[in-house]
Amino acid sequence: MKKHTFALFLAGAIALAGCSKDKDLNFFSVKQDVQFGAQLDSTVIASPDEFPILKKSQYPQVYSYLQQMLDAILESEEILYKDEFVWKITVINSDVVNAFAAPGGYLYFYTGLIKYLDKGSELSGIMAHEVAHADRRHSTEAMTKQYGFSIVLSVLLGDNPTQMEQLLASLALTGTTLAYSRKNENEADQFAVYYSADTKYYHPLGIAGFFDKLINEGGGNGIPEFLSTHPSDENRIENINNTWNNLLSGRPELESVLWKDLVTEHTNIKATLP
Ligand SMILES: [Zn+2]
Repeated sequence: MKKHTFALFLAGAIALAGCSKDKDLNFFSVKQDVQFGAQLDSTVIASPDEFPILKKSQYPQVYSYLQQMLDAILESEEILYKDEFVWKITVINSDVVNAFAAPGGYLYFYTGLIKYLDKGSELSGIMAHEVAHADRRHSTEAMTKQYGFSIVLSVLLGDNPTQMEQLLASLALTGTTLAYSRKNENEADQFAVYYSADTKYYHPLGIAGFFDKLINEGGGNGIPEFLSTHPSDENRIENINNTWNNLLSGRPELESVLWKDLVTEHTNIKATLP
């Protein structure tokens, strides 16, 4: 390819990618996020040894507790893909202290995490953080960085129709253990505060409370899974507090909201878990 043809080609590729609403470089389409998420969800469903799913029909209370949180979070004006994404909650019955999001709005919470927490606002903060990873399309953004150019080639030249399938398979395998970049972590923490603030209900510092607890008490057996898949820098809690203080100074009406920590509600939900 001649030099300027190549430049045009690259410009075209970037223009194609420019449809991402959050303006970060992403060579995948919004539909592909949903497709990847659905693929990963099928893998989770088909792997009961690794992901023993807590049945919704048997444990409706915890699901409706989580669903209420999700409904409130998705009302935030900061959400970009409320209608385009699936937004499905799955609870995994395991002692792991973790939660993860697949592209397209598939959200997974371990009972170990729910039991570890003391407050509903901590759980809603973590949920908001996971929603941000999905809604800001962090997984396909990371894949763009990792595979970017080969994807552009295969999509634009159409010379390797199976490459997409191979990528799907590799995402399904690595998706649940994919560690995000610190930049994406900071962004997810920041949006967790924004989404929670817009609920006018769940305390926006719930997410900071969770990290505080992890640092002070640890996560039970060994290193908490959450920090290995959601790596932080040492300023994490400070950054969350700064985000909240900046938001308050721009929107002083938030000062008078009666923010909820939901200690009793959370304790009651924990009692319903196996
Ligand atoms: Zn994260």
